[in-house]
Amino acid sequence: MAQRVTPLVAGNWKMNLLRRDAVALACDLVTRLQTGSAPGCDLLVCPPAVMLHAVAEALAGSPVALGAQDCHTEVSGAHTGDISAAMLADAGCSHVIVGHSERRADHGEDDALVREKARAAHEQGMRAIICVGETLEQRDAGNTIQVVEAQLNGSLPLEAAAANTVIAYEPVWAIGTGRTPTAADVAEVHARIRDVLVKRLPDGETVRILYGGSVNPGNAPELMTVENVNGGLIGGASLKADDFWAIARACPG
Ligand code: PEP
Repeated sequence: MAQRVTPLVAGNWKMNLLRRDAVALACDLVTRLQTGSAPGCDLLVCPPAVMLHAVAEALAGSPVALGAQDCHTEVSGAHTGDISAAMLADAGCSHVIVGHSERRADHGEDDALVREKARAAHEQGMRAIICVGETLEQRDAGNTIQVVEAQLNGSLPLEAAAANTVIAYEPVWAIGTGRTPTAADVAEVHARIRDVLVKRLPDGETVRILYGGSVNPGNAPELMTVENVNGGLIGGASLKADDFWAIARACPG
């Protein structure tokens, strides 16, 4: 039986929203927390980098955590257009997503780079949300478990622990498509991720493993209660306060 871990529901806003809408969305979540009964999970939002300061102000004093969508491996230097983990921590981020499949695909990021980014986040006292997940071709070829295990082993830095690391299992074919794996498929992959974490880390039993990929208020009650699913990484549905809130409420408290 899996150990009880407080779930985390994280909104990945990707390259969406302008500042006014981002602030309004953050304020909406804060108001819900102040006026309604709190969900049984922790909440995190990851806006585009240029909106971090404005969203940090909107969230100030609330329990909603702030995260970024990527970071550079270096603390500073000649890396035009990049943002260091130190800058993100300075902007108020407690978390940073690394190795999202869109970055792996769009920017050619491999496991070694993802591992260095996670390490950079750790060095700044932030939690790295390390994303792994198979493509449709890999799933159809029956290679899901091998692919996910290899990504996880390659992307986890040595110092990873429950206090500084979250894993997000996101099948690439489920992201933004409206398609999801079955609950049994999710359970199988999460169990294997748990096995790897327990083998590699002294407190691997309590590292959060999020499921991500087309989670919505309709499928959240099933997906968020699968064994070893400790919350979700939510893309499209995190842009609507009603949907994000409903997903958070679907997590076991
Ligand atoms: C994501 O990109 O992390 C994601 C899970 O997106 P969506 O929820 O839109 O599938």
